[in-house]
Amino acid sequence: MITPYTHEPFTDFSVEENKKAMEAALKQVESKLGKHHDLLVGGERISTKEKIVSVNPANKEEVVGTVSKATQEIAEKAIQTAHEAFQTWKYTKAIDRANILMRAAQIVRRRKHEFSALLIKEAGKPWKEADADTAEAIDFMEYYARQMLDLEKGKEINSRPGEFNRYFYAPTGVTVTISPWNFAFAIMAGTTVAPLVTGNTVLLKPASATPVIAAEFVEVLQEAGVPEGVVNFIPGSGAEVGDYLVDHPKTSLITFTGSRDVGTRMYERAAVVQKEQNHLKRVIVEMGGKDTVVVDKDADLDLAAESIVVSAFAFSGQKCSAGSRAVVLEEVYDEVLEKVIKLTNELTVGEAKSNDIYMGPVVDQGAYDKIMNYIEIGKQEGRLVAGGTGDDSKGYFIQPTIFADVDVNARIMQEEIFGPVVAFAKARDFDHALEIANNSEYGLTGAVITNNRDHIDQATMEFHVGNLYFNRNCTGAIVGYHPFGGFKMSGTDSKAGGPDYLTLHMLARTVSEMY
Ligand code: NAP
Repeated sequence: MITPYTHEPFTDFSVEENKKAMEAALKQVESKLGKHHDLLVGGERISTKEKIVSVNPANKEEVVGTVSKATQEIAEKAIQTAHEAFQTWKYTKAIDRANILMRAAQIVRRRKHEFSALLIKEAGKPWKEADADTAEAIDFMEYYARQMLDLEKGKEINSRPGEFNRYFYAPTGVTVTISPWNFAFAIMAGTTVAPLVTGNTVLLKPASATPVIAAEFVEVLQEAGVPEGVVNFIPGSGAEVGDYLVDHPKTSLITFTGSRDVGTRMYERAAVVQKEQNHLKRVIVEMGGKDTVVVDKDADLDLAAESIVVSAFAFSGQKCSAGSRAVVLEEVYDEVLEKVIKLTNELTVGEAKSNDIYMGPVVDQGAYDKIMNYIEIGKQEGRLVAGGTGDDSKGYFIQPTIFADVDVNARIMQEEIFGPVVAFAKARDFDHALEIANNSEYGLTGAVITNNRDHIDQATMEFHVGNLYFNRNCTGAIVGYHPFGGFKMSGTDSKAGGPDYLTLHMLARTVSEMY
Protein backbone atom coordinates (compact mmCIF):
# COMPACT_ATOMS: atom_id res chain seq x y z
CA MET A 1 0.00 0.00 0.00
CA ILE A 2 1.52 3.32 -1.07
CA THR A 3 1.07 6.20 1.35
CA PRO A 4 -0.89 9.19 0.01
CA TYR A 5 1.14 12.08 -1.37
CA THR A 6 2.05 14.95 0.93
CA HIS A 7 4.69 17.50 0.12
CA GLU A 8 8.19 17.33 1.52
CA PRO A 9 8.40 19.50 4.65
CA PHE A 10 10.67 22.55 4.59
CA THR A 11 13.62 22.61 6.96
CA ASP A 12 13.50 24.97 9.93
CA PHE A 13 17.06 26.28 10.14
CA SER A 14 16.42 28.05 13.43
CA VAL A 15 16.63 24.55 14.94
CA GLU A 16 20.28 24.08 15.92
CA GLU A 17 20.44 20.50 14.68
CA ASN A 18 19.22 21.50 11.18
CA LYS A 19 21.60 24.43 11.04
CA LYS A 20 24.51 22.15 11.94
CA ALA A 21 23.41 19.59 9.34
CA MET A 22 23.46 22.24 6.61
CA GLU A 23 26.84 23.55 7.72
CA ALA A 24 28.21 20.00 7.52
CA ALA A 25 26.65 19.57 4.05
CA LEU A 26 28.27 22.79 2.86
CA LYS A 27 31.64 21.50 4.06
CA GLN A 28 31.04 18.20 2.28
CA VAL A 29 30.20 20.00 -0.98
CA GLU A 30 33.25 22.25 -0.57
CA SER A 31 35.45 19.17 -0.30
CA LYS A 32 34.19 18.03 -3.73
CA LEU A 33 34.48 21.37 -5.52
CA GLY A 34 36.05 21.19 -8.95
CA LYS A 35 34.99 17.60 -9.61
CA HIS A 36 34.47 16.65 -13.25
CA HIS A 37 31.34 14.99 -14.67
CA ASP A 38 31.02 13.26 -18.01
CA LEU A 39 28.12 12.89 -20.39
CA LEU A 40 25.99 9.76 -20.28
CA VAL A 41 24.74 8.15 -23.49
CA GLY A 42 23.34 4.67 -23.15
CA GLY A 43 25.50 3.21 -20.43
CA GLU A 44 28.57 4.96 -21.75
CA ARG A 45 30.28 7.85 -20.00
CA ILE A 46 31.66 10.24 -22.62
CA SER A 47 34.40 12.75 -21.97
CA THR A 48 34.84 15.69 -24.32
CA LYS A 49 37.69 18.12 -24.82
CA GLU A 50 35.47 21.13 -24.37
CA LYS A 51 34.03 21.53 -20.89
CA ILE A 52 31.41 23.66 -19.21
CA VAL A 53 32.93 25.30 -16.14
CA SER A 54 30.35 25.93 -13.44
CA VAL A 55 31.24 28.74 -11.02
CA ASN A 56 29.76 29.98 -7.78
CA PRO A 57 27.93 33.25 -8.62
CA ALA A 58 28.64 34.51 -5.11
CA ASN A 59 32.37 33.94 -5.58
CA LYS A 60 33.53 33.94 -9.18
CA GLU A 61 36.88 32.40 -8.28
CA GLU A 62 35.26 29.25 -6.95
CA VAL A 63 34.77 26.50 -9.55
CA VAL A 64 31.89 24.29 -8.49
CA GLY A 65 32.70 21.63 -11.08
CA THR A 66 33.26 20.95 -14.74
CA VAL A 67 31.05 19.00 -17.09
CA SER A 68 31.76 17.59 -20.54
CA LYS A 69 29.99 19.40 -23.33
CA ALA A 70 27.88 17.64 -25.95
CA THR A 71 28.38 18.31 -29.64
CA GLN A 72 25.84 17.71 -32.41
CA GLU A 73 27.58 14.42 -33.13
CA ILE A 74 27.06 13.27 -29.54
CA ALA A 75 23.49 14.57 -29.62
CA GLU A 76 22.86 12.40 -32.70
CA LYS A 77 24.28 9.36 -30.93
CA ALA A 78 22.10 10.09 -27.90
CA ILE A 79 18.97 10.41 -30.03
CA GLN A 80 19.64 7.06 -31.74
CA THR A 81 20.34 5.45 -28.35
CA ALA A 82 17.18 6.88 -26.78
CA HIS A 83 15.15 5.80 -29.81
CA GLU A 84 16.41 2.26 -29.47
CA ALA A 85 15.86 2.16 -25.71
CA PHE A 86 12.29 3.40 -26.24
CA GLN A 87 11.41 0.17 -28.10
CA THR A 88 11.60 -1.77 -24.82
CA TRP A 89 11.12 0.94 -22.20
CA LYS A 90 7.66 1.77 -23.58
CA TYR A 91 6.43 -1.72 -22.64
CA THR A 92 7.62 -1.62 -19.02
CA LYS A 93 5.00 -1.63 -16.31
CA ALA A 94 4.00 1.64 -14.71
CA ILE A 95 4.77 0.22 -11.27
CA ASP A 96 8.38 -0.47 -12.29
CA ARG A 97 8.82 3.04 -13.64
CA ALA A 98 7.10 4.58 -10.62
CA ASN A 99 9.36 2.58 -8.33
CA ILE A 100 12.44 4.16 -9.88
CA LEU A 101 11.06 7.62 -9.06
CA MET A 102 10.24 6.63 -5.49
CA ARG A 103 13.68 5.14 -4.96
CA ALA A 104 15.31 8.25 -6.45
CA ALA A 105 13.17 10.47 -4.18
CA GLN A 106 14.35 8.48 -1.18
CA ILE A 107 18.01 8.75 -2.21
CA VAL A 108 17.66 12.52 -2.60
CA ARG A 109 15.84 12.76 0.73
CA ARG A 110 18.72 10.98 2.46
CA ARG A 111 21.17 13.47 0.86
CA LYS A 112 18.80 16.43 1.06
CA HIS A 113 21.12 19.00 2.63
CA GLU A 114 23.97 17.96 0.36
CA PHE A 115 21.85 18.75 -2.70
CA SER A 116 20.71 22.04 -1.15
CA ALA A 117 24.33 22.93 -0.37
CA LEU A 118 25.20 22.30 -4.00
CA LEU A 119 22.39 24.67 -5.03
CA ILE A 120 23.78 27.30 -2.67
CA LYS A 121 27.15 26.98 -4.40
CA GLU A 122 26.07 26.53 -7.99
CA ALA A 123 22.95 28.73 -8.23
CA GLY A 124 23.73 31.20 -5.42
CA LYS A 125 20.59 30.28 -3.50
CA PRO A 126 20.01 31.33 0.10
CA TRP A 127 19.45 28.38 2.43
CA LYS A 128 15.67 28.59 2.51
CA GLU A 129 15.39 28.79 -1.28
CA ALA A 130 17.82 25.92 -1.81
CA ASP A 131 15.91 23.78 0.68
CA ALA A 132 12.64 24.53 -1.15
CA ASP A 133 14.20 23.68 -4.53
CA THR A 134 15.37 20.28 -3.25
CA ALA A 135 12.01 19.63 -1.58
CA GLU A 136 10.23 20.39 -4.85
CA ALA A 137 12.45 17.95 -6.75
CA ILE A 138 11.48 15.24 -4.26
CA ASP A 139 7.83 16.24 -4.58
CA PHE A 140 7.83 15.92 -8.36
CA MET A 141 9.12 12.36 -8.08
CA GLU A 142 6.71 11.32 -5.36
CA TYR A 143 3.71 13.00 -7.00
CA TYR A 144 4.29 11.81 -10.57
CA ALA A 145 5.04 8.26 -9.43
CA ARG A 146 1.66 8.02 -7.72
CA GLN A 147 -0.14 9.73 -10.54
CA MET A 148 1.26 7.33 -13.10
CA LEU A 149 -0.12 4.38 -11.16
CA ASP A 150 -3.52 5.98 -11.41
CA LEU A 151 -3.23 6.87 -15.08
CA GLU A 152 -2.13 3.38 -16.02
CA LYS A 153 -5.72 2.29 -15.49
CA GLY A 154 -6.87 4.64 -18.24
CA LYS A 155 -10.27 6.35 -17.99
CA GLU A 156 -13.84 5.06 -18.00
CA ILE A 157 -15.67 5.15 -21.33
CA ASN A 158 -18.92 3.54 -22.43
CA SER A 159 -19.39 0.17 -24.16
CA ARG A 160 -22.52 -0.96 -25.99
CA PRO A 161 -23.84 -4.57 -25.77
CA GLY A 162 -21.40 -6.88 -27.59
CA GLU A 163 -18.65 -4.34 -27.47
CA PHE A 164 -15.69 -3.82 -25.09
CA ASN A 165 -14.16 -0.33 -25.23
CA ARG A 166 -11.04 0.80 -23.50
CA TYR A 167 -9.32 4.18 -23.21
CA PHE A 168 -5.76 4.28 -22.01
CA TYR A 169 -2.48 6.15 -22.34
CA ALA A 170 0.67 5.13 -24.20
CA PRO A 171 4.14 6.70 -24.20
CA THR A 172 5.09 9.18 -26.91
CA GLY A 173 8.76 8.57 -27.76
CA VAL A 174 12.09 10.31 -27.41
CA THR A 175 11.79 13.41 -25.23
CA VAL A 176 14.05 16.44 -25.26
CA THR A 177 14.22 18.04 -21.81
CA ILE A 178 15.73 21.53 -21.78
CA SER A 179 15.73 23.15 -18.36
CA PRO A 180 16.60 26.55 -16.79
CA TRP A 181 19.11 27.39 -14.08
CA ASN A 182 16.74 29.12 -11.67
CA PHE A 183 15.12 25.96 -10.32
CA ALA A 184 18.25 24.07 -11.19
CA PHE A 185 17.13 20.97 -9.33
CA ALA A 186 13.34 20.98 -9.18
CA ILE A 187 12.51 21.91 -12.77
CA MET A 188 15.39 19.92 -14.21
CA ALA A 189 14.32 16.85 -12.23
CA GLY A 190 10.57 17.35 -12.74
CA THR A 191 10.86 17.71 -16.51
CA THR A 192 13.11 14.62 -16.64
CA VAL A 193 11.06 12.26 -14.49
CA ALA A 194 7.67 13.17 -16.01
CA PRO A 195 8.60 11.81 -19.46
CA LEU A 196 10.50 8.96 -17.80
CA VAL A 197 7.62 7.69 -15.67
CA THR A 198 5.20 7.94 -18.59
CA GLY A 199 7.34 5.49 -20.58
CA ASN A 200 9.34 7.86 -22.76
CA THR A 201 13.10 8.00 -23.10
CA VAL A 202 14.87 11.24 -22.28
CA LEU A 203 17.67 13.47 -23.55
CA LEU A 204 18.45 15.87 -20.71
CA LYS A 205 20.12 19.18 -21.56
CA PRO A 206 20.32 21.28 -18.40
CA ALA A 207 21.14 25.00 -18.31
CA SER A 208 24.83 25.71 -18.83
CA ALA A 209 24.96 27.75 -15.60
CA THR A 210 23.95 24.76 -13.45
CA PRO A 211 25.08 21.48 -15.00
CA VAL A 212 26.67 19.95 -11.88
CA ILE A 213 23.45 19.47 -9.92
CA ALA A 214 21.98 17.83 -13.05
CA ALA A 215 24.98 15.49 -13.33
CA GLU A 216 24.55 14.48 -9.69
CA PHE A 217 20.84 13.86 -10.23
CA VAL A 218 21.50 11.61 -13.24
CA GLU A 219 23.76 9.54 -10.98
CA VAL A 220 20.86 9.26 -8.51
CA LEU A 221 18.59 8.00 -11.30
CA GLN A 222 21.20 5.39 -12.25
CA GLU A 223 21.45 4.29 -8.63
CA ALA A 224 17.65 4.08 -8.52
CA GLY A 225 17.71 1.64 -11.45
CA VAL A 226 17.07 3.55 -14.66
CA PRO A 227 18.12 1.24 -17.50
CA GLU A 228 20.81 2.27 -19.97
CA GLY A 229 19.67 4.58 -22.74
CA VAL A 230 16.47 5.63 -20.97
CA VAL A 231 17.94 8.86 -19.56
CA ASN A 232 20.82 10.35 -21.52
CA PHE A 233 22.74 13.29 -20.12
CA ILE A 234 23.91 15.72 -22.80
CA PRO A 235 24.69 19.14 -21.35
CA GLY A 236 25.93 21.68 -23.87
CA SER A 237 25.27 25.10 -25.24
CA GLY A 238 21.58 25.54 -26.01
CA ALA A 239 22.47 27.63 -29.01
CA GLU A 240 24.73 24.84 -30.36
CA VAL A 241 22.73 21.65 -29.74
CA GLY A 242 19.24 23.02 -29.04
CA ASP A 243 17.99 23.32 -32.60
CA TYR A 244 19.48 19.95 -33.52
CA LEU A 245 17.52 18.20 -30.77
CA VAL A 246 14.29 20.06 -31.41
CA ASP A 247 14.41 19.61 -35.20
CA HIS A 248 15.42 15.96 -35.28
CA PRO A 249 12.81 13.67 -36.92
CA LYS A 250 13.25 11.08 -34.17
CA THR A 251 12.38 13.35 -31.24
CA SER A 252 8.69 13.32 -30.33
CA LEU A 253 8.23 15.52 -27.30
CA ILE A 254 9.96 18.76 -26.37
CA THR A 255 9.68 19.91 -22.77
CA PHE A 256 11.28 23.28 -22.23
CA THR A 257 11.31 25.76 -19.39
CA GLY A 258 13.08 29.06 -19.90
CA SER A 259 12.84 32.42 -21.56
CA ARG A 260 10.16 33.66 -23.92
CA ASP A 261 12.53 34.13 -26.84
CA VAL A 262 13.99 30.64 -26.73
CA GLY A 263 10.62 29.04 -25.96
CA THR A 264 8.77 30.65 -28.85
CA ARG A 265 11.63 29.77 -31.19
CA MET A 266 11.34 26.12 -30.14
CA TYR A 267 7.57 26.16 -30.45
CA GLU A 268 7.90 27.29 -34.07
CA ARG A 269 10.70 24.90 -35.00
CA ALA A 270 9.01 21.88 -33.47
CA ALA A 271 5.95 22.53 -35.64
CA VAL A 272 7.93 21.93 -38.84
CA VAL A 273 7.61 18.35 -40.11
CA GLN A 274 11.09 17.21 -41.11
CA LYS A 275 12.06 14.74 -43.82
CA GLU A 276 11.52 11.17 -42.54
CA GLN A 277 9.38 12.44 -39.67
CA ASN A 278 6.05 10.66 -39.43
CA HIS A 279 4.52 12.32 -36.39
CA LEU A 280 3.65 15.75 -35.06
CA LYS A 281 5.71 16.78 -32.05
CA ARG A 282 4.23 17.52 -28.68
CA VAL A 283 5.62 20.72 -27.19
CA ILE A 284 5.52 21.94 -23.62
CA VAL A 285 7.08 25.38 -23.30
CA GLU A 286 6.93 27.17 -19.96
CA MET A 287 8.30 30.69 -20.19
CA GLY A 288 8.64 34.02 -18.44
CA GLY A 289 6.39 36.23 -16.36
CA LYS A 290 5.72 39.82 -15.35
CA ASP A 291 3.80 39.08 -12.24
CA THR A 292 1.79 41.52 -10.14
CA VAL A 293 0.82 41.89 -6.51
CA VAL A 294 -2.37 43.98 -6.25
CA VAL A 295 -3.15 45.69 -2.94
CA ASP A 296 -6.76 46.70 -2.31
CA LYS A 297 -7.69 49.60 -0.03
CA ASP A 298 -9.43 47.21 2.33
CA ALA A 299 -6.47 44.96 3.13
CA ASP A 300 -4.03 43.99 5.84
CA LEU A 301 -1.25 46.41 4.87
CA ASP A 302 1.50 44.62 6.82
CA LEU A 303 0.62 41.42 5.01
CA ALA A 304 0.59 43.37 1.74
CA ALA A 305 4.08 44.76 2.37
CA GLU A 306 5.47 41.38 3.33
CA SER A 307 3.86 39.74 0.28
CA ILE A 308 5.37 42.33 -2.05
CA VAL A 309 8.84 41.95 -0.53
CA VAL A 310 8.84 38.14 -0.61
CA SER A 311 7.41 38.06 -4.16
CA ALA A 312 9.94 40.58 -5.47
CA PHE A 313 13.15 39.67 -3.68
CA ALA A 314 13.21 35.99 -2.66
CA PHE A 315 16.02 34.37 -4.68
CA SER A 316 16.88 37.87 -5.92
CA GLY A 317 13.72 38.05 -8.03
CA GLN A 318 14.99 35.25 -10.29
CA LYS A 319 11.74 33.33 -10.38
CA CYS A 320 9.33 33.24 -13.30
CA SER A 321 6.68 33.85 -10.64
CA ALA A 322 8.51 36.83 -9.08
CA GLY A 323 6.24 39.77 -8.27
CA SER A 324 8.06 42.50 -10.15
CA ARG A 325 5.04 44.83 -10.18
CA ALA A 326 3.10 46.17 -7.20
CA VAL A 327 -0.20 47.81 -8.05
CA VAL A 328 -1.66 49.59 -5.04
CA LEU A 329 -4.92 51.50 -4.63
CA GLU A 330 -4.28 55.20 -4.17
CA GLU A 331 -5.90 55.37 -0.71
CA VAL A 332 -3.20 53.09 0.76
CA TYR A 333 -0.37 53.59 -1.75
CA ASP A 334 1.92 55.78 0.37
CA GLU A 335 1.51 53.65 3.48
CA VAL A 336 2.20 50.36 1.65
CA LEU A 337 5.21 51.84 -0.16
CA GLU A 338 6.66 53.08 3.12
CA LYS A 339 6.24 49.67 4.76
CA VAL A 340 7.83 47.91 1.76
CA ILE A 341 10.82 50.29 1.78
CA LYS A 342 11.31 49.66 5.51
CA LEU A 343 11.24 45.86 5.12
CA THR A 344 13.47 46.00 2.04
CA ASN A 345 16.11 48.04 3.82
CA GLU A 346 16.31 45.31 6.46
CA LEU A 347 17.11 42.55 3.93
CA THR A 348 20.58 41.01 4.06
CA VAL A 349 22.51 40.48 0.82
CA GLY A 350 25.62 38.33 0.44
CA GLU A 351 27.06 34.86 0.00
CA ALA A 352 24.81 32.38 1.82
CA LYS A 353 27.35 31.05 4.29
CA SER A 354 24.59 31.04 6.89
CA ASN A 355 20.83 31.25 7.03
CA ASP A 356 21.09 34.94 7.98
CA ILE A 357 21.46 35.89 4.32
CA TYR A 358 18.11 36.63 2.68
CA MET A 359 19.34 37.40 -0.82
CA GLY A 360 22.30 35.90 -2.65
CA PRO A 361 23.79 36.99 -5.97
CA VAL A 362 22.24 36.96 -9.42
CA VAL A 363 23.36 34.09 -11.59
CA ASP A 364 26.12 35.45 -13.82
CA GLN A 365 27.73 38.47 -15.46
CA GLY A 366 25.13 38.54 -18.23
CA ALA A 367 22.29 38.66 -15.72
CA TYR A 368 24.11 41.25 -13.61
CA ASP A 369 24.66 43.57 -16.59
CA LYS A 370 21.10 43.15 -17.84
CA ILE A 371 19.55 43.92 -14.44
CA MET A 372 21.85 46.90 -13.80
CA ASN A 373 20.83 48.22 -17.22
CA TYR A 374 17.16 47.92 -16.24
CA ILE A 375 17.95 49.83 -13.04
CA GLU A 376 19.31 52.67 -15.20
CA ILE A 377 16.14 52.55 -17.30
CA GLY A 378 14.12 52.55 -14.08
CA LYS A 379 15.81 55.76 -12.96
CA GLN A 380 14.34 57.44 -16.04
CA GLU A 381 10.93 55.81 -15.64
CA GLY A 382 10.28 56.07 -11.91
CA ARG A 383 11.41 57.33 -8.53
CA LEU A 384 14.20 55.21 -7.03
CA VAL A 385 13.26 54.71 -3.36
CA ALA A 386 15.45 51.75 -2.35
CA GLY A 387 18.54 49.96 -3.63
CA GLY A 388 19.70 50.77 -7.13
CA THR A 389 23.30 49.66 -6.65
CA GLY A 390 25.31 46.54 -7.40
CA ASP A 391 28.77 45.11 -6.87
CA ASP A 392 30.25 42.50 -9.18
CA SER A 393 33.79 42.56 -7.85
CA LYS A 394 33.60 39.18 -6.08
CA GLY A 395 30.15 37.85 -6.96
CA TYR A 396 27.13 39.27 -8.76
CA PHE A 397 25.36 41.15 -5.98
CA ILE A 398 22.54 43.64 -6.55
CA GLN A 399 20.70 45.44 -3.77
CA PRO A 400 16.92 44.96 -3.64
CA THR A 401 15.56 47.85 -5.68
CA ILE A 402 12.23 49.68 -5.64
CA PHE A 403 10.93 52.21 -8.14
CA ALA A 404 7.82 54.19 -7.19
CA ASP A 405 5.26 56.03 -9.33
CA VAL A 406 5.99 54.12 -12.52
CA ASP A 407 3.81 54.55 -15.60
CA VAL A 408 1.85 51.39 -16.41
CA ASN A 409 3.39 51.17 -19.88
CA ALA A 410 6.98 51.83 -18.79
CA ARG A 411 9.55 49.24 -19.78
CA ILE A 412 10.19 48.19 -16.17
CA MET A 413 6.44 47.56 -15.83
CA GLN A 414 6.29 45.49 -19.01
CA GLU A 415 9.55 43.60 -19.52
CA GLU A 416 10.77 40.62 -17.50
CA ILE A 417 13.84 41.86 -15.59
CA PHE A 418 14.50 38.63 -13.71
CA GLY A 419 16.30 40.36 -10.87
CA PRO A 420 15.59 42.08 -7.53
CA VAL A 421 13.65 45.03 -8.94
CA VAL A 422 10.03 45.94 -8.24
CA ALA A 423 8.01 48.76 -9.81
CA PHE A 424 5.11 50.43 -7.98
CA ALA A 425 2.07 51.83 -9.82
CA LYS A 426 -0.94 53.60 -8.34
CA ALA A 427 -4.51 52.50 -9.18
CA ARG A 428 -7.67 54.67 -8.94
CA ASP A 429 -9.89 51.78 -7.88
CA PHE A 430 -10.00 47.97 -7.96
CA ASP A 431 -11.17 47.81 -11.61
CA HIS A 432 -8.23 49.98 -12.57
CA ALA A 433 -5.84 47.78 -10.54
CA LEU A 434 -6.96 44.68 -12.44
CA GLU A 435 -6.69 46.55 -15.72
CA ILE A 436 -3.05 47.41 -14.94
CA ALA A 437 -2.33 43.87 -13.76
CA ASN A 438 -3.71 42.42 -17.00
CA ASN A 439 -1.79 44.92 -19.11
CA SER A 440 1.01 42.46 -19.86
CA GLU A 441 1.87 40.01 -22.58
CA TYR A 442 2.53 37.47 -19.83
CA GLY A 443 -0.02 35.54 -17.77
CA LEU A 444 1.80 33.49 -15.19
CA THR A 445 1.14 34.40 -11.55
CA GLY A 446 -0.51 37.15 -9.54
CA ALA A 447 -1.58 37.94 -6.01
CA VAL A 448 -4.32 40.10 -4.55
CA ILE A 449 -4.24 41.34 -0.97
CA THR A 450 -7.78 42.20 0.03
CA ASN A 451 -10.46 41.67 2.65
CA ASN A 452 -13.23 42.35 0.15
CA ARG A 453 -15.09 39.17 -0.82
CA ASP A 454 -16.59 40.76 -3.95
CA HIS A 455 -13.11 41.71 -5.10
CA ILE A 456 -11.88 38.17 -4.52
CA ASP A 457 -14.70 36.91 -6.75
CA GLN A 458 -14.04 39.59 -9.35
CA ALA A 459 -10.28 38.92 -9.50
CA THR A 460 -10.90 35.18 -9.69
CA MET A 461 -12.79 35.76 -12.93
CA GLU A 462 -10.87 38.70 -14.39
CA PHE A 463 -7.23 38.51 -13.29
CA HIS A 464 -5.88 36.54 -16.25
CA VAL A 465 -3.02 34.47 -14.85
CA GLY A 466 -2.33 30.76 -14.54
CA ASN A 467 -1.68 30.91 -10.79
CA LEU A 468 -3.64 33.41 -8.73
CA TYR A 469 -3.13 33.77 -4.98
CA PHE A 470 -5.12 35.74 -2.41
CA ASN A 471 -3.63 37.23 0.73
CA ARG A 472 -0.15 35.82 0.22
CA ASN A 473 2.85 36.19 -2.06
CA CYS A 474 2.70 35.16 -5.74
CA THR A 475 5.66 32.73 -5.62
CA GLY A 476 6.23 29.33 -4.02
CA ALA A 477 3.85 26.94 -5.78
CA ILE A 478 3.91 23.49 -4.20
CA VAL A 479 3.65 20.28 -6.23
CA GLY A 480 0.24 18.69 -5.87
CA TYR A 481 -1.17 21.77 -4.13
CA HIS A 482 -0.64 24.62 -6.61
CA PRO A 483 -0.29 23.12 -10.13
CA PHE A 484 1.93 25.60 -11.90
CA GLY A 485 2.01 27.24 -15.33
CA GLY A 486 0.80 30.21 -17.29
CA PHE A 487 -0.74 31.23 -20.56
CA LYS A 488 -0.47 34.20 -22.93
CA MET A 489 3.30 34.54 -23.59
CA SER A 490 4.09 32.67 -20.37
CA GLY A 491 3.64 29.34 -22.07
CA THR A 492 1.50 26.33 -22.80
CA ASP A 493 -0.06 26.23 -19.31
CA SER A 494 1.08 22.67 -18.72
CA LYS A 495 0.49 22.93 -14.97
CA ALA A 496 3.54 21.12 -13.66
CA GLY A 497 2.83 19.30 -10.42
CA GLY A 498 -0.85 19.06 -11.29
CA PRO A 499 -3.32 16.30 -12.19
CA ASP A 500 -3.26 16.98 -15.95
CA TYR A 501 0.50 17.22 -16.42
CA LEU A 502 1.52 13.64 -17.15
CA THR A 503 -1.07 13.10 -19.86
CA LEU A 504 0.70 15.78 -21.89
CA HIS A 505 3.54 13.26 -22.22
CA MET A 506 1.35 10.45 -23.49
CA LEU A 507 -0.87 9.46 -26.39
CA ALA A 508 -4.45 8.62 -25.52
CA ARG A 509 -5.61 5.44 -27.24
CA THR A 510 -9.07 4.00 -27.79
CA VAL A 511 -9.39 0.24 -28.33
CA SER A 512 -12.76 -1.23 -29.26
CA GLU A 513 -13.38 -4.98 -29.45
CA MET A 514 -16.58 -6.74 -30.60
CA TYR A 515 -17.43 -10.09 -29.06
P1 NAP B 1 16.93 30.44 -21.26
O1 NAP B 1 18.07 31.31 -21.55
O2 NAP B 1 15.80 30.45 -22.23
O3 NAP B 1 17.54 28.97 -21.13
C1 NAP B 1 16.73 27.86 -20.80
C2 NAP B 1 17.33 26.62 -21.41
O4 NAP B 1 17.26 26.73 -22.82
C3 NAP B 1 18.80 26.43 -21.06
O5 NAP B 1 19.06 25.06 -20.90
C4 NAP B 1 19.50 26.96 -22.30
O6 NAP B 1 20.77 26.44 -22.52
C5 NAP B 1 18.55 26.50 -23.38
N1 NAP B 1 18.69 27.22 -24.64
C6 NAP B 1 19.18 28.47 -24.87
N2 NAP B 1 19.13 28.76 -26.19
C7 NAP B 1 18.59 27.67 -26.81
C8 NAP B 1 18.27 27.35 -28.16
N3 NAP B 1 18.47 28.21 -29.16
N4 NAP B 1 17.70 26.15 -28.41
C9 NAP B 1 17.48 25.28 -27.41
N5 NAP B 1 17.78 25.51 -26.12
C10 NAP B 1 18.32 26.70 -25.82
O7 NAP B 1 16.31 30.71 -19.82
P2 NAP B 1 17.06 30.80 -18.42
O8 NAP B 1 17.80 32.08 -18.36
O9 NAP B 1 17.79 29.54 -18.13
O10 NAP B 1 15.84 30.82 -17.40
C11 NAP B 1 15.18 31.98 -17.06
C12 NAP B 1 13.86 32.09 -17.80
O11 NAP B 1 13.09 30.93 -17.53
C13 NAP B 1 13.03 33.27 -17.34
O12 NAP B 1 12.43 33.88 -18.45
C14 NAP B 1 11.97 32.62 -16.44
O13 NAP B 1 10.79 33.35 -16.32
C15 NAP B 1 11.76 31.31 -17.15
N6 NAP B 1 11.19 30.30 -16.26
C16 NAP B 1 9.90 29.93 -16.45
C17 NAP B 1 9.32 29.00 -15.61
C18 NAP B 1 7.88 28.56 -15.80
O14 NAP B 1 7.51 27.55 -15.23
N7 NAP B 1 7.08 29.28 -16.56
C19 NAP B 1 10.06 28.44 -14.57
C20 NAP B 1 11.40 28.84 -14.42
C21 NAP B 1 11.95 29.76 -15.27
P3 NAP B 1 22.08 27.28 -22.13
O15 NAP B 1 22.03 27.46 -20.67
O16 NAP B 1 23.18 26.42 -22.61
O17 NAP B 1 21.98 28.59 -22.87
